Amino acid sequence: MSDCIFCKIIDGQIPANIHYQDDTVIAFDDLNPQAPHHTLIVPKQHIATLNDLTSDEDENPTGHMVKVAATLAEELGLSESGYRFVMNCNGDGGQTVFHIHGHLLGGRKMHWPPG
Ligand code: AMP
Ligand code: ZN
Repeated sequence: MSDCIFCKIIDGQIPANIHYQDDTVIAFDDLNPQAPHHTLIVPKQHIATLNDLTSDEDENPTGHMVKVAATLAEELGLSESGYRFVMNCNGDGGQTVFHIHGHLLGGRKMHWPPG
């Protein structure tokens, strides 16, 4: 966990453009944006992949992550035009940072299926 880049952002050891945080999640700009708006929603608890989620609702941050993403999308004016909220898992899913996170992407038309 000590060399986890997102844990370092959470701890304030690495700078990020933080939009929101509470006890459970933090949201900051992606370093390499793939859309006009590209924000990462990250649980403060280090969970490496979606495969490591607990089924215990009290400990599983994903529901709160989705709610925060929708709230941020509203604040960014994306609710009506639309946006995408995605999570990648392991190699074939395109995951490169092994601390779970959701990508909030908006400000352009998204493609389907994603590449
Ligand atoms: P994923 O491929 O789903 O694991 O997404 C990881 C995302 O983290 C990528 O979109 C990267 O651009 C982003 N990223 C990596 N390092 C940083 C950083 N220091 N600050 C903000 N975003 C980062
Ligand atoms: Zn971490």
